[in-house]
Amino acid sequence: MIYKQFKDKKLSLLGMGNMRLPTKEVDGAKVIDWEKGREIIDYAYNNGINYFDTAFRYHGGESELFVGDALSKYPRDTWYIASKFPGHMMKFEGHKLGFKGYLSNFHCDTPADVFNEQLEKCKVDHFDFYLLHNLCESAYDFYTNEELGVVEYFKKMRDEGKITHLGFSSHGRADTIDKFLTKYEGVFEFVQIQLNYLDAKLQDAMSKYKVIWEKHGIPVIVMEPVRGGRLINLPQKSAEQLKAVAPDATAASWAFRYFQNLPGVQVVLSGMTTMEQIVENVDIFSKENPLSDIELKTLDEIVNDMLKLVPCTGCRYCTEECPMGLDIPKLIAIYNEVKNDGDMLSFNMDVNKDEENPARCIGCGACSSICPQSIDIPSIMSEFADILAKK
Ligand code: SF4
Ligand code: SF4
Repeated sequence: MIYKQFKDKKLSLLGMGNMRLPTKEVDGAKVIDWEKGREIIDYAYNNGINYFDTAFRYHGGESELFVGDALSKYPRDTWYIASKFPGHMMKFEGHKLGFKGYLSNFHCDTPADVFNEQLEKCKVDHFDFYLLHNLCESAYDFYTNEELGVVEYFKKMRDEGKITHLGFSSHGRADTIDKFLTKYEGVFEFVQIQLNYLDAKLQDAMSKYKVIWEKHGIPVIVMEPVRGGRLINLPQKSAEQLKAVAPDATAASWAFRYFQNLPGVQVVLSGMTTMEQIVENVDIFSKENPLSDIELKTLDEIVNDMLKLVPCTGCRYCTEECPMGLDIPKLIAIYNEVKNDGDMLSFNMDVNKDEENPARCIGCGACSSICPQSIDIPSIMSEFADILAKK
């Protein structure tokens, strides 16, 4: 395992994300498959991964419970746990704190209510890493509200030893991240952003990396390194281009080795669902092997083709909001394939199923307002429905 120094800690370059753990159905509900999940965590730990990332509502709140429990059998000073404060899903109105959107059924009076519950769920007395979740344009005023004092509260928690390192994650623009880091200079020690060789251009993520690492000198933690699997299941033409340069290399190895070319990347979080994935990923991160100039040029070429695709990561936040129960990420994945490869006859799609019929979209926009990628989902559903109608 490759390790990189972070202050007094050596962090594994590959970190374990816990938002895509294996699941199973119990009484019609999708829950974490604890047995399979434990196998993955055990393999991760025993093969040198020491950074485990979770958040308040990953897997409907079950991720924190699972990760804390799965790690608790190992000595506390041999692993690091990171969780996040869900401010991006909160509001502060009329001097009152509350949740919004798909979390509106939850209640809290102060940030401490949420934080203490998280410590308890994770079975820890401190978080090694703690983040404000998704500092972005729509959450900026919330996080900087002085009466509420979110940043001040978590600085206090760090002073009291309940947080060792404080950071934030962001799907926001580079200038928003810059403004926040400048306002709170010296407060945040790391920033987590969505970065991969496609988003470097598609979401202007390289500008964010430069602001965080080159301007502010703060290490970057990467999320979505394979774009929710999109960079594993590449369009045929792109996959062939990579094979022509390196016949034995997997798509995952291209995506992960990319980060070895970026000195500011501290940890690459991968949300691993199967044993096969973690075994392959641990192997990729077992040795230093940055991309060559020719390999970087090849990635640049395939990115230019892929820029036409809708940038869905499959996070499924939108599906919790859709009143029509549409399987939006599945429909977008098929839409991307249709747009990219033209033919859709081979796709596993059944418009007779309510959740797979984009024509059922009523254009309410509830999905787009929650989508971290700011995708105009109603327009895509409408266009996809038109394409289907003409088939
Ligand atoms: S706009 Fe369409 S896809 Fe989005 S939440 Fe409304 S019905 Fe669902
Ligand atoms: S459309 Fe947006 S919210 Fe829905 S799964 Fe894709 S990235 Fe996530």
